[in-house]
Amino acid sequence: MPRPLLATIHTTALSNNLAVARGYASKSKIWAVVKANAYGHGLERVFPSLRSTDGFALLELEDAVKLRKLGWAGPILLLEGAGCSIDIDTIDHYGLITTVHCDEQLRMLETARLSKPINIYLKMNSGMNRLGYVASKYYAAWKRARVCSGIGQITLMTHFSNAEGEGSVRRQLEIFKYGSHGIEGARSLSNSAATLWHSYANFDWVRPGIMLYGASPSSVLASIQGSGLQPAMTLSSELIAIQTVEPGEGVGYGSIFKARERMRIGVVACGYADGYPRCAPEGTPVLVNGVCTRIVGRVSMDMLTVDLSLCPNSAIGSSVELWGNNIPIDTVAVACGTVGYELMCAIAQRVQVCVE
Ligand SMILES: *Cc1c(COP(=O)(O)O)cnc(C)c1O
Repeated sequence: MPRPLLATIHTTALSNNLAVARGYASKSKIWAVVKANAYGHGLERVFPSLRSTDGFALLELEDAVKLRKLGWAGPILLLEGAGCSIDIDTIDHYGLITTVHCDEQLRMLETARLSKPINIYLKMNSGMNRLGYVASKYYAAWKRARVCSGIGQITLMTHFSNAEGEGSVRRQLEIFKYGSHGIEGARSLSNSAATLWHSYANFDWVRPGIMLYGASPSSVLASIQGSGLQPAMTLSSELIAIQTVEPGEGVGYGSIFKARERMRIGVVACGYADGYPRCAPEGTPVLVNGVCTRIVGRVSMDMLTVDLSLCPNSAIGSSVELWGNNIPIDTVAVACGTVGYELMCAIAQRVQVCVE
């Protein structure tokens, strides 16, 4: 008997969410961000539902090649650019667009022997302080790129560090405008949060990621309520055992939960080796048999335990939703002190996946 744990990828949600992104950025083109194996959903699985996008953005070169092999002939953007000069050959061969965030990457293009010029995204560090040229050095980098015969079109790009916060987005936008003053060319700034909440930053191309998967870029609960986004993944399982515990008895490793009264405990086939966070505290919501209940005791490698007091009709084989349409992934993430991004990216190899 296979383990009942299943990640279901919802194709209609994916295409719906892409349409929602289009609605928010109707004047912009869309890079559907599919890095990290499409945020854990599987690149091949999401591809058919997202192929009405204008381009795909990711950072794994092998996945960019995979997109070509799946038949995608449109734009592909490498968000971190080339790691070494061998990458440039692949970028050239598959007609990829590459980010340039430092002189070393410029040098690779200057010294490469190419079949045709490569289009680039020239990245400015407008406040994130990870990748990119600071505003005062940006113009010089652009001039150097412009005279490089290996470089074709140059798109101007930056990335927001606090897209939830109005002030911070406006500040970074000001820095970007100052650093790119006098430079012509398309511009790309917005991630999901900016696409949703700061449309003045949308410009020519937006780069939504998390919203395509129906989760929030913010850890403020309910932040995407009313946006029309739908969860693209349901993580479901079943009860594989039920225990009745007496007052004072502990449950699971460390006995961190102690029953106050006689109660039924459900054992769910899902643990941290499946990607469910071990740090999920008592009270983290779980749906059993259509009823919202809570985790009790420590999440272990292959199992977790839930309070069945509210689910008198539950039995072995009862359905369990860890996250999905009823239990938003964001709610679980907030309970665990993290973000939906991390949970979806952490789905383990051993979890069975189906597409519907
Ligand atoms: C991951 C990423 C995005 C997408 O971010 P979301 O918050 O998932 O929308 C956009 N741009 C860059 C450069 C990224 O690395």
